[in-house]
Amino acid sequence: MTADPRPYWLANRPVAPNGDLTVHDKYTREPIARVALADAAAVDQAIAAAHAARGPMQALPPDARRDVLEHCVGRFREREEELAQLLCAEAGKPIRDARGEVTRLIDTFREAAAEATRIGGEVLELQISPRTRGYRGMTKRVPVGVCGLITPFNFPLNLVAHKVAPAIAAGCPFVLKPAEKTPLGALLIAEVLAETDLPTGAFSVLPCTPDEASAIVEDDRIALLSFTGGPVGWDLKARAGRKKVVLELGGNAACIVDADPGVPLDRVVERLVLGAYYQSGQSCISVQRILVHRSLIDELRPRLVEAVSTLCMGDPRDEATFVGPMIDEAAAQRVESWIDEACAGGATRLVGGPRDRHLLPPALLENVPHEAKLQRCEAFGPVAVLEPFNEFDAALNAVNDSAFGLQAGVFTGRLEHAMRAWDRLVVGGVIVGDVPSFRVDTMPYGGVKASGLGREGVRYAIEDMTESRLLVIRDP
Ligand code: NAD
Repeated sequence: MTADPRPYWLANRPVAPNGDLTVHDKYTREPIARVALADAAAVDQAIAAAHAARGPMQALPPDARRDVLEHCVGRFREREEELAQLLCAEAGKPIRDARGEVTRLIDTFREAAAEATRIGGEVLELQISPRTRGYRGMTKRVPVGVCGLITPFNFPLNLVAHKVAPAIAAGCPFVLKPAEKTPLGALLIAEVLAETDLPTGAFSVLPCTPDEASAIVEDDRIALLSFTGGPVGWDLKARAGRKKVVLELGGNAACIVDADPGVPLDRVVERLVLGAYYQSGQSCISVQRILVHRSLIDELRPRLVEAVSTLCMGDPRDEATFVGPMIDEAAAQRVESWIDEACAGGATRLVGGPRDRHLLPPALLENVPHEAKLQRCEAFGPVAVLEPFNEFDAALNAVNDSAFGLQAGVFTGRLEHAMRAWDRLVVGGVIVGDVPSFRVDTMPYGGVKASGLGREGVRYAIEDMTESRLLVIRDP
């Protein structure tokens, strides 16, 4: 661990004041870094600087914004393994998955670089009656202003990228508060941004406590609040005043396996296991509820049990590890208590085992009571629930019987079932032929109901970070 705290970034510059935060390796639980902690005064200065940078950011031509983002792509490529090792340590993410997240970071910046020069507008037909003859209309998109960005612990690089890269492409200055548990990825992105010619004040990256961050939520100089995290997002929206608000929140995603799944069962099992236990289930689109047609469940159950029981759990630095630690012991304890609650209510534990501090063995349960937390709430851990259904429509109803609505997966070989699922499932996205955990960084991604508001994905985030401005011209 370095003796000096790593600086935070205020108005493009590194600052290292007295207060600091210790970041731990999530597997060994040893301290790995000290990070300067911003206070409310620093947050206020960052907002003021970003507010002053609105004009210069908007004046930065699209090709210059693209060049900034391309510079980042190049630097991330050079530092790929360093970034993966950093993720592995600060988030406890298995190294193979950490490398995958770095690839996605690069993809997200690369796509944002391309989009920076495609933010066009529209030519409008205004001549709809004799009264409007001779009028022409067109629109262009202008940056919304300062973006306040708040990110969670589970994808410390790519979820930061999903806010920062579109903000730069759109021409918006921003103030970012990364998760206190995993701030190192965001600080490294800031270090790379500082190598570019972004105007002073264009970016601030401030690890801080939620209390110190309250101006990011409430200050009227911020035009858009983009939050990814848990249900607290709804409280923040209530405090956000006139800002635009984007909320990317949690879920308890379901995956349907139809009587004819459309693909071999081996593939279904492989994808379900990946979807449910990848990153110890700490993903907002982790498979939590597996709904299987009754005709298949006796065949699928032992295959799933075998696949889950042979998953390799342990040190995330080990190339063979599939399930690493949970973010901390409290999180592992909570999920374990939900499993115990379901079992006390009559559930059968098909796979699973005792917790070892922050390591929770992957678990699969059946006969879980409808009201158990494992059915109703977001588990955000390495656990899934198996359930049979008789009719496809009953499976659709079961998916919708949730407070959440992020994504749903449907394995079906019947086109009409795929279309019915797309029509009827109340979610942000339906994935046919795969698990709900599928995400490509260009697709519109986000939820309905308790899962959030608005969409991310580079183009869609840029849409939110810009406003349409109309020009009407009357022929002389
Ligand atoms: P969290 O809500 O505890 O924290 C997220 C961020 O919000 C952190 O930076 C935290 O410090 C900050 N925060 C919390 N309270 C705040 C307040 N009052 N004011 C200002 N900032 C505040 O979430 P987490 O535990 O870091 O992440 C897990 C959650 O994130 C899960 O619910 C998961 O589903 C969700 N998530 C959603 C998506 C998505 O894209 N939909 C992606 C990843 C994670």
